[in-house]
Amino acid sequence: MAKSMINLIPGPVSVPDQVLQAMSQNFGSGDLDEEFLILYNQTEKKLQTILGTRNQVLIQTGEGMWGLWGALKSTLKPGDHVVSVCTGVFGYGIAEMAAGLGADVRRVELDHSQTLNQADELCQLVAEHKPVMITAVHCETPSGTLNPLDILAQAKKAYPEALLCVDTVASAGGCAIDADYNQIDLALNGSQKALSAPPSMSFVSVSDSAWARIAAVNYSGYDAFLPFKYAQCDFYFPNTPYWHGVAALNSAAKLLLQETLPRVFARHEECQKYCEKRVKEMGLKLFAAADAVRAPTVTAVCLPEGSSWTHFKRACNDRGLAIAGGYGKLSGKVFRIGHMGNQARMDALCAGLDIIQSIV
Ligand code: PLP
Repeated sequence: MAKSMINLIPGPVSVPDQVLQAMSQNFGSGDLDEEFLILYNQTEKKLQTILGTRNQVLIQTGEGMWGLWGALKSTLKPGDHVVSVCTGVFGYGIAEMAAGLGADVRRVELDHSQTLNQADELCQLVAEHKPVMITAVHCETPSGTLNPLDILAQAKKAYPEALLCVDTVASAGGCAIDADYNQIDLALNGSQKALSAPPSMSFVSVSDSAWARIAAVNYSGYDAFLPFKYAQCDFYFPNTPYWHGVAALNSAAKLLLQETLPRVFARHEECQKYCEKRVKEMGLKLFAAADAVRAPTVTAVCLPEGSSWTHFKRACNDRGLAIAGGYGKLSGKVFRIGHMGNQARMDALCAGLDIIQSIV
């Protein structure tokens, strides 16, 4: 992507200068230098505030998928029962990942254009299958939808023995997660979406119940969570910490908290509403079903009748705009506008939408 382009790709998003500066220096060894531990602890505190949790937040080198795999491998054994809410690419994907680890997975399956708007089917499946874990995705980035967390919390309340594991990769920092209020045991995140840091870090909040499960499973692979339980108090990380990545994440989280979360969330909501209004005025159709909850961080739009994604993308790029296409079964059917993090700004969004309007 040319430097002068307007970036409205829904991750990795454009990184603010302050964040780039925070990571562009020589650091010492995160294994040896107490300064790193102080930075890690400070970053954890900020992420706890953003996620709305008092639970430990472990920060690992890697992007979103790292945390997704680490969470599943650290908590699941072959034969474990899992119930997965599947409403999009990542929801179906997590179900497949759990099944790949040998779990016995039952799914609540909806079309990618829909969201889980009521808890009945999920609660019934949970009551029947008695899972060790319920998995779900808050914001399905490929379809621009948002599964309500209070609906997921209802299933957890009805069967507290299950861990509630939610991918909040594309929503955290763009809207409230309230992980403790919503009884989320594992909130899975990456640095490259609404946090607006480079795609280098994953961070996951882990409840006491989840830690108990992690200790029982005792997974010891490279992406294992268990070594992080005492990494801070023992100052012993399982591999060389990526100091630059933690510095970037800390700076990105600091920017959000300085702005204040209510203002950050309001900025995302304003951008979402404006984006939806403009695309509708252009005669385009939102991909999300009429009764689906739409995400404040990304809008998926059906490609105009008869237009190919390749041509549409080139037309946008030629005019200085970077946007994303569809994934999986939405490939060639939708385009996506990422108004998340540093990109949830009306000036860039207006300019990007003007370009789209000049094409359709
Ligand atoms: N979960 C969701 C909802 C995502 O949108 C993504 C990436 O787009 C991921 C997980 C995986 O994150 P990463 O691409 O940083 O590995």
